[in-house]
Amino acid sequence: MLLNPRRRGVPGPVARRRKAALFASAATLCSVCLVAAAAPPVPLGIGDRLYPTLGNPGYDVTSYDLDLTYPGTNDKPLQAVTTIDAWVTADLDRVNLDFTHGTVRSVRVDGIPARFTGAGEDLVVTPVERLHRGDWVRITVRHTSDPVPAEKGDGGWVPTTDGLVMANQADAAHMVFPCNDHPSDKAMFTFRVTAPNTYTVVANGLPGTPRRAGGNTTWTYRTQHPMATELAQVSIGRSAVPRREGPHGLPLRDVVPSADREALEPWLAKTPDQIAWMESKVGRYPFENYGVIMANATTGFELETQTLSLFEKKLFTEPAYPAWYVESVMVHELSHQWFGDSVSPRTWSDVWLNEGHATWYEALYAEEKAHRPMADRMKAAYAASDGWRASGGPPARPKAPVPGQKISIFRPSVYDGAALALYALRQEIGRPAFERLERLWVRDHRDSNASTSDFIDLASAVAGRDLSGFLHAWLYDEKTPPMPGHPDWKQDPTTKAATRPAHK
Ligand SMILES: [Zn+2]
Repeated sequence: MLLNPRRRGVPGPVARRRKAALFASAATLCSVCLVAAAAPPVPLGIGDRLYPTLGNPGYDVTSYDLDLTYPGTNDKPLQAVTTIDAWVTADLDRVNLDFTHGTVRSVRVDGIPARFTGAGEDLVVTPVERLHRGDWVRITVRHTSDPVPAEKGDGGWVPTTDGLVMANQADAAHMVFPCNDHPSDKAMFTFRVTAPNTYTVVANGLPGTPRRAGGNTTWTYRTQHPMATELAQVSIGRSAVPRREGPHGLPLRDVVPSADREALEPWLAKTPDQIAWMESKVGRYPFENYGVIMANATTGFELETQTLSLFEKKLFTEPAYPAWYVESVMVHELSHQWFGDSVSPRTWSDVWLNEGHATWYEALYAEEKAHRPMADRMKAAYAASDGWRASGGPPARPKAPVPGQKISIFRPSVYDGAALALYALRQEIGRPAFERLERLWVRDHRDSNASTSDFIDLASAVAGRDLSGFLHAWLYDEKTPPMPGHPDWKQDPTTKAATRPAHK
């Protein structure tokens, strides 16, 4: 994610109240409801420090099949069937899924109707028979998926002027579909989306053949690599889908409003070279395809949804943004395909591994392509760093999100503050070792999850010496350590880190 300049570091005025009340009506629709004999259902989590009720214990999802029917308007819910295949990893009397902001009509477990109820932002399912560790289970939920936000800026579905896109980071996928909504449980995805014939649907992964029936078309997409729920993307719109080739024949497809296709083409044409540049730094692009969505929507950020990054169209049409800046933002989201998408954070406290690296390649691209020295940006970040740590926490121990503003973990400390720690590491171990570390990181943890301690371990292995003390200070201390090679760099709370052009 990259907040746009207005939003960067400034907590938004968003007040969120998630609606759990929908489940009350859902329960009345359940034809097999029985009075629960056990303790009342409660929301569960996997113990994420920043999002305590995100994710659920006791199972590991292998695949999601999302069947969505778009009614051709944004003011009515989509009809949906979400099918979840999972391995059971602990004996379970109940299965908690993350889901809110939709009405559940029925739940089946291995084809047998099951009881369900809501608890907080969880959908709690009680199968007829207890699930045992080692079982394989299929849970089928018939539900609605409501594109009308409970509160503006909640995330999940984002209305555009011509349809919908998704923005699920960090914790909003479960406003769209029932899931185990934590990046530590990656899974394969199939999307089957039915929409009126005038719409074009694009989702993560490779397309199947669209099937037309009467006034509707059903579009199918499948991921070829596991994906975190927060990175799911479904674009429904009056869109053009220009295609081209990237390095090594990599299929590229973009999604732009049909009317803007020609005007946006010069930006779209930049992607192949940007991918080649990233590959020259860290190795092969990790997925089956890539492309960008330029959406007629106001999100306040850009987002690295897997294989299909989401941008606000106005990033490309606002004359105040210099070209080098727009391109470096494109590279920021592109680099997330390696850092954040292919290698996903173990917990949300590891989000600096996403944003620190994406900021790093954003800045490196600006240095190499637009003569904006990395050292200047890092010196400015250094001056501001103690202030960022005080307000947002150190890079690897971000403060909890502000109540009602869950994406407020995306603070300067995990962007330039974390890139600054990477800069310190490069100063400490030298450029060749640092570049080797980056390549090994995305190779060794590809299609998987990794934590801050994994990064410290690999850095130490590559450097041939124990860097845990050095990196702990840079990632966890309240005060910013001295910068190796730049003893003159000082904290200066009066300095505004001039990392971005001013936005009017
Ligand atoms: Zn980002």
